[in-house]
Amino acid sequence: MKLRTADPRDVPAINFNYFDTGSGNWSYDLDATVEGLQFARRILATYAQQTGSGPLHEIAPGSQINTTEGLREWVKDTSWGHHASCSCPIGADDDPMAVLNSEFKVRGTLGLRVVDASVFPQIPGFYIQTSIYMISEKAAEVITASAKTMEHFDYGRVKRFTKGFCHQ
Ligand SMILES: Cc1cc2nc3c(=O)[nH]c(=O)nc-3n(C[C@H](O)[C@H](O)[C@H](O)COP(=O)(O)OP(=O)(O)OC[C@H]3O[C@@H](n4cnc5c(N)ncnc54)[C@H](O)[C@@H]3O)c2cc1C
Repeated sequence: MKLRTADPRDVPAINFNYFDTGSGNWSYDLDATVEGLQFARRILATYAQQTGSGPLHEIAPGSQINTTEGLREWVKDTSWGHHASCSCPIGADDDPMAVLNSEFKVRGTLGLRVVDASVFPQIPGFYIQTSIYMISEKAAEVITASAKTMEHFDYGRVKRFTKGFCHQ
């Protein structure tokens, strides 16, 4: 994910890098998906032939895409997922990619924390919601402890600010 401008209201450029990056032999995922498509085609062709229910009309990817390379491109172009994460990771002081420190604070700013799916250095598994609940509990502890020590907290300023809104 990259900022396109210095205006925080502008939507950033988001590239999921599906099947283009990863660890280990990440291209296995693409190969496996393409093999799955080819396998499904063979099953349906055999079924149509043996039951006389053909010809079948394939809607997606469509019979015009009939090479392995073509299927690879189709998979890359059309894949999507629900588990965007890790764009704003917590990390060590000497890690240039560590947007946050261990207290969820954005490095180089004051009074700004991030607590959501973006904080993980690596995706914490296939389903990430439970991990987000856990990291949120951790953040609540960190923020509460920080508030108790009054770190970066001008209580007098808050009282002055809220005076006009409070009746008691
Ligand atoms: C269809 C779908 C199915 C999923 N199924 C699963 C599943 O089965 N299991 C699983 O583990 N995960 C699942 N996920 C993933 C999971 O829901 C997300 O990873 C998780 O909700 C991300 O949490 P988050 O706190 O980072 O962001 P979100 O839950 O997206 O929270 C962001 C919040 O910020 C608010 N917001 C946005 N912009 C602003 C703004 N400018 N001002 C104020 N508020 C703003 C939004 O309204 C939203 O409430 C699914 C996701 C989708 C889309």
